[in-house]
Amino acid sequence: MAWIESHQELRNHPKTKRLARKLDIQPAAAVGHLHFLWWWSADYAPDGDLTEFDDWEIADAAGYEGDNPAEFKDALIFAGFLDNTNQGTLLLHDWMDYTGKKLQQLKEHSERNTGAYRKFRDAVLRRDGHACQMCGRRDRPLHVHHKKRFSKYPELRVTVSNGIALCEDCHREVHAHEKR
Ligand SMILES: [Zn+2]
Repeated sequence: MAWIESHQELRNHPKTKRLARKLDIQPAAAVGHLHFLWWWSADYAPDGDLTEFDDWEIADAAGYEGDNPAEFKDALIFAGFLDNTNQGTLLLHDWMDYTGKKLQQLKEHSERNTGAYRKFRDAVLRRDGHACQMCGRRDRPLHVHHKKRFSKYPELRVTVSNGIALCEDCHREVHAHEKR
């Protein structure tokens, strides 16, 4: 089960009106099709890339029952809800900036809360004697930092040798260095 962010501005947004006009439907129907498409994408195209889906699949995903699915897809591109880039890829506009990122965070969050992750965390803290491995303090909340990034090395997410106990301050510092 997935969910998406839905902004009230969509109702009167010029893009929505453009889509409704192009398809000759009511704005409420346009908003409905968009939500159908986004909900479907959260499950089947969580990265927002619709390139591999044909016009029928996209129209079906959006609950569009008109007899010209190509026209429906073109209207989405025309209105600015789909980006058809030069390389021939079809992307949901701004998807990764909003919903895609959120979905990724939710997925990581749920992985962090599985039993395997809790075991990993406990093992690292025990090995490190419940002390920050940078400043040695024991009187602050400890985080378990992944030396090789959580997002880039999914196979090392629960590998004890990839974890290290750090206090909040040192953890923040480590991440500040990683960004550079
Ligand atoms: Zn520390």
